[in-house]
Amino acid sequence: MTDVRRRLPAIGTLLELSGVRELTARAPRDLVADSVRRAVEAARRESTDTPDSDEAWVAAIAAEVERALVRSLRPVINATGVVLHTNLGRAPLAAQALAAVRDVAAGYSNLEYDVVRGARGSRHQHCARLLCELTGAADAMIVNNCAAALVLTLNTIADGREAVISRGELVEIGGSLRVPDIMARSGASLVEVGTTNRTHAADYRTAVGPNTAAIVSVHRSNFVLEGFVASVSPAELAKLAAEAGVALVHDFGSGLMADLSPWGLRGEPTARHAVRDGATLVLMSGDKLLGGPQAGIVLGSAESVGAMRANPLARALRVDKMTLAALEATLELYRDADVAVREIPVLRMLTDSVDSVRTRAEAIALAMRDGGTACTVVESDATVGGGAFPGARIPSAAVRLDGISAPDANARLHGAAVPVVGRIVESHLVLDIRTVPPLHDELLVASSVKVLAV
Ligand SMILES: *Cc1c(COP(=O)(O)O)cnc(C)c1O
Repeated sequence: MTDVRRRLPAIGTLLELSGVRELTARAPRDLVADSVRRAVEAARRESTDTPDSDEAWVAAIAAEVERALVRSLRPVINATGVVLHTNLGRAPLAAQALAAVRDVAAGYSNLEYDVVRGARGSRHQHCARLLCELTGAADAMIVNNCAAALVLTLNTIADGREAVISRGELVEIGGSLRVPDIMARSGASLVEVGTTNRTHAADYRTAVGPNTAAIVSVHRSNFVLEGFVASVSPAELAKLAAEAGVALVHDFGSGLMADLSPWGLRGEPTARHAVRDGATLVLMSGDKLLGGPQAGIVLGSAESVGAMRANPLARALRVDKMTLAALEATLELYRDADVAVREIPVLRMLTDSVDSVRTRAEAIALAMRDGGTACTVVESDATVGGGAFPGARIPSAAVRLDGISAPDANARLHGAAVPVVGRIVESHLVLDIRTVPPLHDELLVASSVKVLAV
């Protein structure tokens, strides 16, 4: 250890190496100097791989510079077979949505300016008319995500009062969101009714009292409850709430806007159904099955949505112009269901035929074998993810990497310039092609071959 340390060159000496000076053409001088320091520190810590020549030091420093220049947020190829993967950014945006973001964000926009009247406008008006047209709601507003929509809704209608919810719906969604915690932060006090597996209309009736402001119905989106179960549908709850003179808040999560039953995806309500069921306020996400940007969408009566716009918290939960631009352009595609299924990536991935996915998998496997990567096309099951259609298995095709251990393949693919994230099945790494945008097929081959060949 002491011997190695004695052999470590001085920082100043390394900075004078011509190879290191050349690095300053690609990166700021301070960043290069920091990289030199990090390379020396690394050599001090790990006595094994100490660079033993000027060339080796330049290579180690160049690697540190590369690491420092890599963006924190960057694209990855999702080959997990999970269409709405929260850790991988949920819904990829449609080309139309990206174009709308570029149009609006490159310059100024009428975000809060009414160009007809020449007066101040409200950002909360954007998308509202279109959402009403598409869902049958009377009014709508957009906030940061569905969790924010739930907080704003309860804070607006139930602050200091009671919100009644079934114990079967006190769910955790995506690890960071627990419905009871979110509800407690809104200022509403939670009144739990029923049991984990069974809640009846009478349970709600008994719980509703003079201090009750709302009944809350949360869609159990990420798991299936089977067996000895009972719950009260949002339509029945809407009647019960109306009779009791309280609001019904229906958080249905997915934001499904198109009927996917022709493709075997049944059992999730669409936004139009949720509105028709009669809840006072319907809440949903923008980046799940709707296939748009991260957003929380509130649908409801003009009076209740108006009260939410007037809540000071709305200012803290408001969205950026880029979100509104992407959301509006995505929603426009739903005016024609065929267009929506063709143009919105999430819907296209969910509805693509297994034959077309397999054909692509075979072409990808062929190209990978040409590049020296041993692989086989296998059958696979893709899933919807993102807390929607939790039980659904979508027949898919995957490229299985042979002759390399799953952890090794994983580590190499994660280190690619565009990282590839696959799934481990029976100790092999498989790349499910259903969730890879066809546009990325060649990139997937190039990225994989490069890192798997070494
Ligand atoms: C996903 C989900 C949420 C959270 O939505 P975000 O947009 O991620 O905040 C809330 N409720 C339900 C029922 C969900 O499925």
